[in-house]
Amino acid sequence: MKDFIHKLKENLADIFFPVRCPYCERVIDKTEYACENCKKQFPAPSVIKCCTGGFQCTSPFPYEGIFKDAVSNLKFKNCGSYSKQLSFVLVNSIVESFPQSNFDIITCVPMHKKHLKIRGYNQAKLLAEECSKIMNIPYADTLEKFKENKIQHTLKAKERAENVRGVYRVINKSSVKGKKILLIDDIVTTGNTLGECAKTLMKSGCKSVYCAVLCTSNRF
Ligand SMILES: [Zn+2]
Repeated sequence: MKDFIHKLKENLADIFFPVRCPYCERVIDKTEYACENCKKQFPAPSVIKCCTGGFQCTSPFPYEGIFKDAVSNLKFKNCGSYSKQLSFVLVNSIVESFPQSNFDIITCVPMHKKHLKIRGYNQAKLLAEECSKIMNIPYADTLEKFKENKIQHTLKAKERAENVRGVYRVINKSSVKGKKILLIDDIVTTGNTLGECAKTLMKSGCKSVYCAVLCTSNRF
């Protein structure tokens, strides 16, 4: 009976909350991470570039077309429920790009608490938590954004580096000391934000920082 009720609940959940393709929002099987049509548009190898400060950053997608739609869907629809499917592809990039990395902690670029309150969730944290589950590496909040700054995309390239300087701090220095850290965000535009976060972690004595994002802007 218990099994039956559990199955019934699962089936009802599938009807009312079906799994959707995070790129085009078509309903897909719950074991899938994208519809066949979107999968055909996936570019082949991941791209690795360097953020400010020389930290390597891998990503599976360019910030355009269906991939740009996916970031927007993740940020503004369904309370971030697309993070599970999107992380599957992100993990592929991470494993492919950093095969020998043996990360100790997965963390994310934090949001200022005021903006977190408005959106209700941090999409970078959702991605990082899903990657943590898939990779079986603990997730930890390591950084906080304690200063409010201007929104990066409203600024010119030169102003962006200055805008992020000194706005993050490590929550607990002893928890990052000597650790190999994987830092996750949704997109990289200039690499200033990821670079500043990575630098802040390094100053607190962690061993290394590698970055992973879903999309890379062509301006990067
Ligand atoms: Zn699709």
